[in-house]
Amino acid sequence: MRNIPKLAIIVPCYNEDQVLGETIKRLSETLENLIDKKKIKSDSFILYIDDGSKDSTWNIIKSSSATNLSTKGIKLSKNEGHQNALLAGIEYVEGKCDCLISIDADLQQDEKSMIHFTDSYVNGCDVVLGVRNDRMCDSFFKRATALGFYKLMNLMGVDIIKNHADYRLLSSKAIRMLLSFKEVNLFLRGLVLLIGLKTEYIYFDVKDRYAGKSKYTLKKMFTFAWDGITSFSVVPLRLITLIGFIVFFVSLIMGGSVLYSVIANKTVQGWASTVLPIYFMGGIQLMCLGVIGEYIGKIYKETKRRPRYFIEDITDEKS
Ligand code: UDP
Ligand code: MG
Repeated sequence: MRNIPKLAIIVPCYNEDQVLGETIKRLSETLENLIDKKKIKSDSFILYIDDGSKDSTWNIIKSSSATNLSTKGIKLSKNEGHQNALLAGIEYVEGKCDCLISIDADLQQDEKSMIHFTDSYVNGCDVVLGVRNDRMCDSFFKRATALGFYKLMNLMGVDIIKNHADYRLLSSKAIRMLLSFKEVNLFLRGLVLLIGLKTEYIYFDVKDRYAGKSKYTLKKMFTFAWDGITSFSVVPLRLITLIGFIVFFVSLIMGGSVLYSVIANKTVQGWASTVLPIYFMGGIQLMCLGVIGEYIGKIYKETKRRPRYFIEDITDEKS
């Protein structure tokens, strides 16, 4: 059994001014409740990360932190995406808490389950993953893309937990380990499984977004999936080798058949048999070059080691 922890709740927010007032109210209540029940220490706090929002998100965070001691905020200089906003939060709270829980700003994840997360922590777990029970409240499109995403990840040999979004608890030990991954292409859902500490799952019912629209545009979703695959799997590169072999063997067979038709004097020369392979091979080569290019692009980004975000503003430190 561990001592009760000092908890940091971290919440990435991108253009969430429609929902943020309610989120701050509910999360503050949850925090108070956990403190009252002696599940966490009284100096636990909530950190809102403004991921370069263009609306009044930062103003809301600032004014709330002025009146509420347990509310803090950091503002990133521009929109860096959900994963980088989370990373900014994790790096910021490292050393300031015993464990953290990350949760989305839109109140889709059930904040009342946090009590189970902290119980697991006290019982010795270093990683607790929130897993949603079903996706019934999602649109058909979201459900289909999510299903496709998990199928594809599986096919590519990437180990991730189905229906676990970024609602999770990390102990200070897990935070330290996670932060030792220095990659620029961040895919936290995969990384948390690589650290190998004692992990538990908490199931919760997912709710509708309280207000506002999903901040994951189709483009962001594809980038996320593509990053997940190319940061964790070299299967696409192997597939290229496989395609290369297959095409090579097919061309051997074609060569054989051409030889046969020459010997048998059946040379009915066709336009298609000349032109089609050119298109076919050209297409495959371009596709393969593209995939290899993607990986080289990743190496290029990693070698530059550019900072993953900049913190532009911090609400005043009070504790
Ligand atoms: N988010 C972010 N930066 C982005 C996109 C999203 O910080 O570029 C945050 C967003 O404010 C929310 C969380 O990531 O707290 C999850 O986003 P959303 O609820 O829109 O995604 P969905 O639930 O639709 O997958
Ligand atoms: Mg959401």
